[in-house]
Amino acid sequence: MTGRFGKRLFEIFFRTYSEKLWGIPCSELDADFAAQRIKKLSLLEVIKSFVKLTKKNEHKTLVDQFAYPLKGTGMVYENMRDKIRENGGKIHLSNPVKRVLRKASTATGIELENGEVKNFDEVVSSMPLTLLMKRLDNVPQSIRDNVAKLRYRNTVIVYLRIDAADLFPDNWLYIHSENLSVGRITNFRNWVPELYGEDDKTILALEYWCYEDDDFWSLEDAKIIDLAKKEIASTRLIGSSEVLDGKVVRLPRCYPVYSKGYKENLKPVEGFLTDIESLSVIGRYGAFKYNNQDHSILMGMRAAENIAEGKSHDLWEINTDYDNYQESYIITRTGLEKA
Ligand SMILES: Cc1cc2nc3c(=O)[nH]c(=O)nc-3n(C[C@H](O)[C@H](O)[C@H](O)COP(=O)(O)OP(=O)(O)OC[C@H]3O[C@@H](n4cnc5c(N)ncnc54)[C@H](O)[C@@H]3O)c2cc1C
Repeated sequence: MTGRFGKRLFEIFFRTYSEKLWGIPCSELDADFAAQRIKKLSLLEVIKSFVKLTKKNEHKTLVDQFAYPLKGTGMVYENMRDKIRENGGKIHLSNPVKRVLRKASTATGIELENGEVKNFDEVVSSMPLTLLMKRLDNVPQSIRDNVAKLRYRNTVIVYLRIDAADLFPDNWLYIHSENLSVGRITNFRNWVPELYGEDDKTILALEYWCYEDDDFWSLEDAKIIDLAKKEIASTRLIGSSEVLDGKVVRLPRCYPVYSKGYKENLKPVEGFLTDIESLSVIGRYGAFKYNNQDHSILMGMRAAENIAEGKSHDLWEINTDYDNYQESYIITRTGLEKA
């Protein structure tokens, strides 16, 4: 980042936010994170885009428009669910998998938390990689040691209901200030204003990040809401408007941490899982990849092609190297379309 944008911009825009998100100094982060997220963006491109010399939305990192489902991102998955059912598929929710079963080097099915055993020709796992490894028998100690070094960062979202309809025009704001712990503020009213109907209040989401063993993770809700109220007031984004209500949602294992050397631990695990026949590992948490939804959906589609059409996509390669990764997709009502 310093090489691309200079030390001063790195200090102003990247360092504090990144360190809040990952909870480690940038010097301990692997460069993969920046390569995946800012791709080939340069300072010149940023300036050209700012003075409108480039075409609209030319660089993905600088898009100022994007399609968003009218009732939220869940619509995409509800449509997928309907298609699966229309085609005779079955979806079983709230059935946590306790173990993935295998005979020799082939996955043969799953055991549910309630003890029920189900045999399958193929198993596709999107549960966090570290959990999958605990739910597989006969994993060599050296691989377990590798897995123990892979960490996820947790998110604590504080939703605040504000007594105002028109606070600020942005969908979300990244908070760089070192004086605040909040890292990102989302204004849901600006995503789909029609959803609010006659309601003249605004819901803001303040995102905080921590590790599972940090005190913050188990801090009581009232204290976290108090902190969020103080911080939102100090940003002056809500002016003198009143905070009417607050709710805390804790999301474990949200971000696979690309700390320096993570690949040395991930590679042997990838190799171990690749050697298990009839098991595909996909998704942001499942494959320990800092994916957005498009990459996660793409991994699912490619896994399906491997199984149904006998293709041999290397799923681990998706969202790995942007120089070689030329495919670009947009999320549509029913899945993905090539952009
Ligand atoms: C706060 C936040 C904001 C984000 N914002 C964006 C954004 O703006 N745009 C974007 O594109 N992406 C965004 N993402 C990323 C996006 O949500 C993920 O990339 C995507 O949801 C990952 O899909 P997935 O299928 O890998 O994982 P998930 O959607 O988490 O699916 C994994 C599934 O596995 C299930 N599971 C886990 N363990 C078990 C078990 N033992 N048994 C059975 N099932 C199990 C879980 O219940 C879950 O349903 C955001 C993520 C977070 C956390």
